[in-house]
Amino acid sequence: VFIAFEGGDGAGKSTQVRLLAEVLRARGREVLVTRQPGGTELGAAIRDLVLHGDHVSPRAEALLFAADKAHHVDLVIRPAVAAGQVVITDRYTDSAVAYQGAGRDLGADEVHDLQMWAVGDLVPDLTVVVDVPSGEGRRRRGEVHDRLESEADDFHDSVRQHFLAVARGNPHRYLVVDGTTPPDAVHAEVLARVEAMGVV
Ligand code: C5P
Repeated sequence: VFIAFEGGDGAGKSTQVRLLAEVLRARGREVLVTRQPGGTELGAAIRDLVLHGDHVSPRAEALLFAADKAHHVDLVIRPAVAAGQVVITDRYTDSAVAYQGAGRDLGADEVHDLQMWAVGDLVPDLTVVVDVPSGEGRRRRGEVHDRLESEADDFHDSVRQHFLAVARGNPHRYLVVDGTTPPDAVHAEVLARVEAMGVV
């Protein structure tokens, strides 16, 4: 089983990933938690280059994030799914399409194709979009940690609208949760959906 969490910076994805992993483990599932960019040694180097470098051209940014994913899927995600683990990733291909495709204006279709090629068409069984308005995300982030977080609110708003549009277009594979409600309430909604899938 493969589950992805997506959403803007400051939405609370990492908290939700942790809460879900804890419950699934308590109920006897083997769970692998990972994140993108940065889930492998190569990925960590890419993450550092892209997020903390001075300037990275938008196409180079898209290619580097795609390389991170290609490597991560081959080395970590596919083997774990094949071994019967529940793999939960903090961000996946939709982030790239939202940030580089919609946010950076490289074209959602092009970036989507690039991403699908990179991951060999591996699609999650469920993608949870943790949704918060961009102003709220900025307030929660506090000080800026990386290049992408420092983008203006309208960049983050394009990213958000992209996540919502993709999720609305495919309700069977997506769940949108309101990240402005308390973490426990968001978690309960996510868990109900995961239970309905028969994962636990
Ligand atoms: O969520 P996390 O802090 O790991 O994300 C790292 C940064 O990378 C965020 O600022 C996010 O906006 C950015 N990012 C991106 N394009 C992606 C994935 C993440 O710009 N494809």
